[in-house]
Amino acid sequence: MRRLILAIGVFCAGWSSVYAQRGNLPSAEFNANTRFEQLGTALPTPNSTRAASGAPGKEYWQQRADYDIKVELDDANQRIIGTETVTYFNHSPDDLPYLWIQLDQNLFKKDAIGATTQLGGVNPQGMSAGQLSKLAGTSTKEYGYNITSIKDAKGNPLHTVTNHTMMRIDLPTPLKPNQSVSFSVEWNYNITEYYGRSGYEFFKDGNYNYFIAHWFPRMAVYDDVNGWQHKQFLGQGEFTVPFGNYKVAITAPSDHIVGATGECQNYSQVLSKTQMDRLNKAKKNFKEPTLIVTQEEAVAAEKNKATGKKTWVFKADNVRDFAFTSSRKFIWDAMMTNVQGKDILCMSYFSKEGNPLWEKYSTQVIAHTLKSYSARTIPYPYPVAISCHATPGGGMEYPMISFNGGRPEPDGTYSESVKYGMIGVIIHEVGHNFFPMIVNSDERQWSWMDEGLNTFCQYLAEQEWDRNYPSRRGEPQYIVDYMKSAPNTQVPIMASSDNIMQFGPNAYAKPATALNILRETVMGRELFDYAFQEYARRWAFKHPTPADFFRTMEDASGVDLDWFWKGWFYGVEPVDQDLAEVEWFAIDAMDPAITKAAQKAADEKKRQTMAVQRNKKDIKQTVVEANPAMNDFYNSYDRYAVTEADKKKYADYLATLSDDERKLLESGKNFYTLSLKNKGGVPMPVILQAKYEDGTTEVFRFPAEIWRMNDVSIKKVIPTDKKVAQWTLDPFLEIADIDTENNSYPRQAAQPTRFQMYKQRQGGSQQPNPMQQQRQGASGAVGGRN
Ligand SMILES: [Zn+2]
Repeated sequence: MRRLILAIGVFCAGWSSVYAQRGNLPSAEFNANTRFEQLGTALPTPNSTRAASGAPGKEYWQQRADYDIKVELDDANQRIIGTETVTYFNHSPDDLPYLWIQLDQNLFKKDAIGATTQLGGVNPQGMSAGQLSKLAGTSTKEYGYNITSIKDAKGNPLHTVTNHTMMRIDLPTPLKPNQSVSFSVEWNYNITEYYGRSGYEFFKDGNYNYFIAHWFPRMAVYDDVNGWQHKQFLGQGEFTVPFGNYKVAITAPSDHIVGATGECQNYSQVLSKTQMDRLNKAKKNFKEPTLIVTQEEAVAAEKNKATGKKTWVFKADNVRDFAFTSSRKFIWDAMMTNVQGKDILCMSYFSKEGNPLWEKYSTQVIAHTLKSYSARTIPYPYPVAISCHATPGGGMEYPMISFNGGRPEPDGTYSESVKYGMIGVIIHEVGHNFFPMIVNSDERQWSWMDEGLNTFCQYLAEQEWDRNYPSRRGEPQYIVDYMKSAPNTQVPIMASSDNIMQFGPNAYAKPATALNILRETVMGRELFDYAFQEYARRWAFKHPTPADFFRTMEDASGVDLDWFWKGWFYGVEPVDQDLAEVEWFAIDAMDPAITKAAQKAADEKKRQTMAVQRNKKDIKQTVVEANPAMNDFYNSYDRYAVTEADKKKYADYLATLSDDERKLLESGKNFYTLSLKNKGGVPMPVILQAKYEDGTTEVFRFPAEIWRMNDVSIKKVIPTDKKVAQWTLDPFLEIADIDTENNSYPRQAAQPTRFQMYKQRQGGSQQPNPMQQQRQGASGAVGGRN
């Protein structure tokens, strides 16, 4: 503790503020930082299509593509054979001499850019036959689109040029603004094994489950930001697709059950009377799912293969894509749910391999997800929502339909992690209906705009499902391992989808965590929730960009967040605050009765040097001790006694003070000067907890702007009535601080790092480090892509 002489009368406001500034800027550590300057030219200039507020501008426009498709699923050969008529509406102010079409299936051609630029060597530990056949190029089947005809509305062939996964159709005359053009395409392709986004899963019983997506030639997006968005499909960067209306007739083996984006138009033609009755019953049950196809019936169906065909007709309006699923192995259940006054049919399609998990949870999780997300964004606008069980891990989203992992062991047992993984992936993929299916961002360019926002909402929906849900992303502490990783293995969140390293932590976990921190710590729930919802309202059924999101979050909340976007979205620096030193001051009471007694106590506590201790034993004060008269006089003087002169001086001093000044003098307040360092780089709010000597605690919160004059090293004074025994920085783990050992003052005793003792194995190979494996699991994309 240091005593502070109260300099009464010198605290004029001007002087004190100058003093405070200088006190904050120790010259050696002063850093003229720009972290709180505006983003400026990093954001595009607002214009009539995209306003400075982050809302769509007065002249906002977007294109539209309608599809009328007939497709046959050839189960015997695992092929898709389709024809489509596309009607493309030009709402742009531009003449379009050509159109760009996405040919996503060409990702699986041998010469695809995504295939030929794959890196990595042979794994000496061993590789699967599939991996090897891919490396060796020995696959017997050809994959990718086989396009057999492209014709205009009159039936005349159109000239086209294919550039890998993109195809240009040259129009005979440019498509004028506010006009539309129709053309038709015929194609077929071999379906790949499920690769995380689409394909088939083959079972030992000889049957296939199909999950069919990006299966038809579809329009690329033409917009005010990129013109044509025709970045190649390399596998990692997802899809950029315009809205439109779809009518799709799917012909499948007559014993298949088909589920798809949109509403089926002809259930009465494709379902049995029993199935129709069950479906109608399901449409009245808002409590639990009703089975339309039971497990018994599904198991019976997988024993034979029907020779006939059935055609299922689906319609979907204002969607950005269309996907479907088909199998004779499917169990099918359905339940109605009401979301903000609208009835929505929730359905699950799964083979017996998914049970008992799937019949218990899938459809209930769909309904929960729609309610949770709708409350934070916009009410779910579509009539159905579907979850299908595709392969053990991962998940993939399409409008109204998603393909999800989460599979028990063959004997029906399952671990907690499989159960929570399944519920989490269904929440995530159903949640994608909102981002990017409705709030239709450019996934090929910005992975975080759908994955990050969706993972944030997923975290909230998981906690609403089960207050103890072991969410693996969202909480600041879970991003620490990633933020600690070497800067040359990280890219900013604002990186192109195809160039992102550490994809799961970068595109999912970090933006989700950043939003959680905004909500809990930077903005507060009320300001954040309104702004986030306003973003969804503004951009539902439109194409937002990052700037539209950043601007809306500030525009609707009144919080300047440019420093936060810079730190969390444009950079790779971590957060590391260090509580380097705490100095304790108290006002000198000036009362001689107090100060002299305190001096006495302090002197008595003084540590004695070794020499003094020895002198006490060894040395005789020969003159004084030999002379009793001298001894009495010599030792009767009390240097701690309060003299009349002391009292008068104190009384004179008190007479100069006002009542308020006197109260302050007698308050006994403690003043703690905390020295804080920003070691990580990203400035964040400072949250400090004082634990007082009596065991009670108090929390002091300072906004991130505390770093605006100096982002390296600051001092902050905190006055307290009680004495502080322990200071703790970030006591509730809110800011993703990568080093919490420098967050206590006095420093806490170090915790040991646990390591395992192992016996040398024969051959000398080491056991894998279980800690390291766990780490990777905690921050990586467990269970594959979703
Ligand atoms: Zn996702």
